[in-house]
Amino acid sequence: MDFKEFITIVPDYPKEGIRFKDITTLMDNGEVYKKAIDEMAQFAKDKNIDLVVGPEARGFVVGCPIAYSLGVGFAPVRKAGKLPREVIKVEYGLEYGKDTLTMHKDAIKPGQRVLIADDLLATGGTIEATIKMVEELGGIVAGIAFMIELNYLDGRQKLGKYEIFSLTQYS
Ligand code: AMP
Repeated sequence: MDFKEFITIVPDYPKEGIRFKDITTLMDNGEVYKKAIDEMAQFAKDKNIDLVVGPEARGFVVGCPIAYSLGVGFAPVRKAGKLPREVIKVEYGLEYGKDTLTMHKDAIKPGQRVLIADDLLATGGTIEATIKMVEELGGIVAGIAFMIELNYLDGRQKLGKYEIFSLTQYS
């Protein structure tokens, strides 16, 4: 299936020069959404995954159904101030300035094999920060799955040593 047919490119959103990949037009088609999740889950199937981890908010949209499909749990990565209990934090660089991501301190049991899932790999900054937290909590990053990969931003190089899967690529 050509998933690109269902992804809408929105020029100059959220600012000039960005070609925003809108996955809502994929998600609202039940058959296509299911097929996309099934293919992402297939990548993870033989990796003995114990837990899926995904950053808000679109990481939930892909990560939760993958976790359900694998029959494992899901742990959220959220912006500072959103998780109610004790968290670990990591600061990461954005195009302008910095942001902070958090995870609950007890979200991962040491030695658990983790699949990280997100909608899109751009610079890789968000996932690099997510990996840091997963590893700090004793998790093993067994794979990383994206719906979309932007080849021209070299995010894959940043995440070098991990096994990466993407459903569709833009160059
Ligand atoms: P990054 O940390 O640079 O890999 O990108 C972080 C997040 O920003 C991705 O998971 C997307 O949710 C979002 N993002 C970045 N670039 C785009 C884009 N061109 N279209 C849609 N979402 C994007």
